[in-house]
Amino acid sequence: MNHAAFQQCINPACRATYGIDEVRVSCAKCDSLLDILYDWTKLPVPKNLSYFEHRWSTKGTGVTGRLDFSGVWRFREMLPFYNSEDDIVTIGEGRTVLQQADLLGRQLGMKPGNLLLQYEGLNPSGSFKDNGMTAAFTHAKMVGAKKVACASTGNTSASLAVFAAFAEMKGVVFIGTGKISFGKLSQALDYGALTIQIKGDFDACLRRIRHIAVDMPELGIYLMNSVNPFRLEGQKSIMFRILEARDWQSPDWIVVPGGNLGNCSAFGKAFAELKELGLIKKIPRLAVINASGANTLNTLYNQYNLRWNDGNFDPTTIQRLYAGMDEANYHPNTVASAIEISRPVNLPKALRALHVMDGVVREVTDDEILEHRAMVARWGFGCEPASGASVAGMHKLMEEGVIGRDETVVCILTGHELKDPNVTVKYHTGVDMKTVQDMAPREEPHGKLSNKPVAVEDDLEAILKAIGA
Ligand SMILES: *Cc1c(COP(=O)(O)O)cnc(C)c1O
Ligand SMILES: [Zn+2]
Repeated sequence: MNHAAFQQCINPACRATYGIDEVRVSCAKCDSLLDILYDWTKLPVPKNLSYFEHRWSTKGTGVTGRLDFSGVWRFREMLPFYNSEDDIVTIGEGRTVLQQADLLGRQLGMKPGNLLLQYEGLNPSGSFKDNGMTAAFTHAKMVGAKKVACASTGNTSASLAVFAAFAEMKGVVFIGTGKISFGKLSQALDYGALTIQIKGDFDACLRRIRHIAVDMPELGIYLMNSVNPFRLEGQKSIMFRILEARDWQSPDWIVVPGGNLGNCSAFGKAFAELKELGLIKKIPRLAVINASGANTLNTLYNQYNLRWNDGNFDPTTIQRLYAGMDEANYHPNTVASAIEISRPVNLPKALRALHVMDGVVREVTDDEILEHRAMVARWGFGCEPASGASVAGMHKLMEEGVIGRDETVVCILTGHELKDPNVTVKYHTGVDMKTVQDMAPREEPHGKLSNKPVAVEDDLEAILKAIGA
């Protein structure tokens, strides 16, 4: 048993703690989110970040070679929640690239060397989600889970499905009738997850799966959404790799699209810990970019001035906004399907990250997303629409003068270009192949490994029947 790691409620008025082997997605006392924390005094903390470079020569060899090969676990001293290295479930995630994007930078009026693109679409399942899944599956294995589930706009399900297959667990993914791209859906089906489409949007799916996983423990379903604090531990490694690629120097800015706000929250935690441990001097600033069609964070941060305020942020502001959405029967709507989320579960942690990293929030329109996504493809390696939001947001912040022309900026490209080819083809040809809104099979599929999706109403009994519970 690992005695140097524990879970703690993020609410400063509560701070309840839980053992690392407990399965929780919120505090039992006050329902706030949980952090994974460490007693660093009991752990072998590297004296400087260049310590990690020795793993470049040991990747793939010896007992820890599989860990040194992973872009997440070669930094394992920074996420030491596991009991033993045998617990770690890895598929070689996080072997991604930081590209100095001078050609794109020139289009945006930037000097050579100032724009950098972090291609997280180069992960095994094609999005940054693999960084988090490897950590959450490691925890699932530690606690003996056999069934894992998530609600998804697409990439979480693709990532869960491939990890579940490798870990020999049963994967269940819930997707809504909002947009999901063919690329992502095809992965969940191909990797063998039970895929259930509920008549409702992402937020409805998440409410359902949360209820089923948390309130019905007898079903033994382990929740893999980013309310799971272990996911965020793995996602910290995106920042470690950026530092590594820059000889351990922080850039001036990190720009990231915001959906459920797990990624930006993980970045804030990574830098807070590195600073606390004296491993970096400077914390970069953070820009979180919403799509205008799913702009909850931007509205709360810039219109209602909601701030972390040492954990004493005002929840009534959020409740009022959500009540207004319900009243207007509002559903988020953006071409960037991966960030089509109106009730981001990690909102408090995102506020904390914005505080730690002196952050800003912006929203960008679908047209801005499409144009900047196309620019990344034309002058870089390409990305999916949601990732284009980070470049669009950076462009906007530079025109506003918030990001200086002399500053170095890393835009996180969260997903691979081929995740959503329909958007690309439509952009170039005007032909709309549509995303998948209703995937109930029209005829019996014939393949030996055909894995039929199941379409059900947004109804608990129907959903439990579909899961086989
Ligand atoms: C999940 C996802 C996002 C949003 O990340 P959050 O952590 O939910 O804010 C952005 N882009 C892509 C491609 C994603 O898959
Ligand atoms: Zn609490």
